[in-house]
Amino acid sequence: MSNDKLGSALAALADDAQLWSDFLVLCDCGGRQAGSPGEQRAREFALSRLAAMDKSARLEPVSYAGWRYSEAVMTRLDSADDQPLACNPLLGAQSTPSAGVTAEVIDLGRGTLEQFEKNARDIAGRFVLVRHEYPFATDHVHRRRKYNWAMERGAAGYIIANPVPVAGPVAGSSGRDGKAGIPAVGTDYESAARLAAHGSERARVCLRLRGEDYPAETSVVLLEIAGLTPASVVLSAHLDGHSLAESAMDNATGVAVVLAVARAIAPLVAQCRYGLKVCLFSAEEWALAGSRQYLERMSASERDALMLNINLDTVGGDTELTALTSEFPRLDSFVQQAAGQSGVALNTHQPLMQNSDHYNFACHGIPALRLVAGFNRPQCNIRHILTGADTRDKVAPMELANAARFTATLLWQALNADKAEIAELRKK
Ligand SMILES: [Zn+2]
Repeated sequence: MSNDKLGSALAALADDAQLWSDFLVLCDCGGRQAGSPGEQRAREFALSRLAAMDKSARLEPVSYAGWRYSEAVMTRLDSADDQPLACNPLLGAQSTPSAGVTAEVIDLGRGTLEQFEKNARDIAGRFVLVRHEYPFATDHVHRRRKYNWAMERGAAGYIIANPVPVAGPVAGSSGRDGKAGIPAVGTDYESAARLAAHGSERARVCLRLRGEDYPAETSVVLLEIAGLTPASVVLSAHLDGHSLAESAMDNATGVAVVLAVARAIAPLVAQCRYGLKVCLFSAEEWALAGSRQYLERMSASERDALMLNINLDTVGGDTELTALTSEFPRLDSFVQQAAGQSGVALNTHQPLMQNSDHYNFACHGIPALRLVAGFNRPQCNIRHILTGADTRDKVAPMELANAARFTATLLWQALNADKAEIAELRKK
């Protein structure tokens, strides 16, 4: 396939005003937590956009371990300071008994494994307090790892605090997935300061958290266009988010860019070597449940026909883009080739990261990357994701335009790669 066609597609993409207007419509849907009316609105909108491109647009239902809460209150008991503390339950958090759980708080600072091990004898029966970290960095320790370390050491509960002042509590998934766990909540910087020990005195708190598990269902929004051979390339992003804000950077940016790239490339796919599957997942924030089930339901030969997953998650909020290439060593030069051709600067990071839907593809041996902005740039706007400050004003139109230009070039290269080249990507 000629590069003239790519050139026209990139020109159409550069003129596509819907890239920005789609981003705003998705933000208008609110935080889009899976199961909320906002998530449903976003899904209907995305489906209508894909249906305008091709008649194959459809929904495929997936189930996940749903959860909702009716009460979440955290109060200090040991002082005159009896104002409620900021308390935002993590998705799927374990409930307390109706009277609540009362225990002392042990502050483990950032909450590294070293800090957990050093204080191992003081953790059982106490609430562990740790800090949320900038998630897109080489040395980041994920919230769910800290949660597991707390649970393994017998903690009474888990409190994760926003390290940024005046920015509200943090959100996230507990990763409990309907199984046994400990109560887990996000809090804000100011509450964490009140929970930290004062001299040898530890704060004593009561946490009441009432939630219920229920079998929930959502859908993958799909578009499937055949190429000249039965194999295909998957372009994906997650539609869902958290209730605290607009989930603008994470991940209205990724969805808007996927829609724009699909608009530009879809009309050309029938003449490409491979077909295109566009997957807009939900329940990503629920331990990647949507993409996990989508892939588990396929037969091994159907999965073998997936040549590459290009997953966009948080591609605005900073000017720098990084491809997380999931330990597929040949993927680095493949994406750099597209970066060079598109004129968009790109970094790569090889270690497999469990932080978005590409992880499930990689676990099935499918070459997979996540495109992300702001990697190793903890001062950029992306530090606000998972908080009430993840709003549209943190994103610049040029950031989406650059991500779209690079993604379209990479997708085009993958759709037309020769058989030997694409087979090489699978090799470890
Ligand atoms: Zn995300």
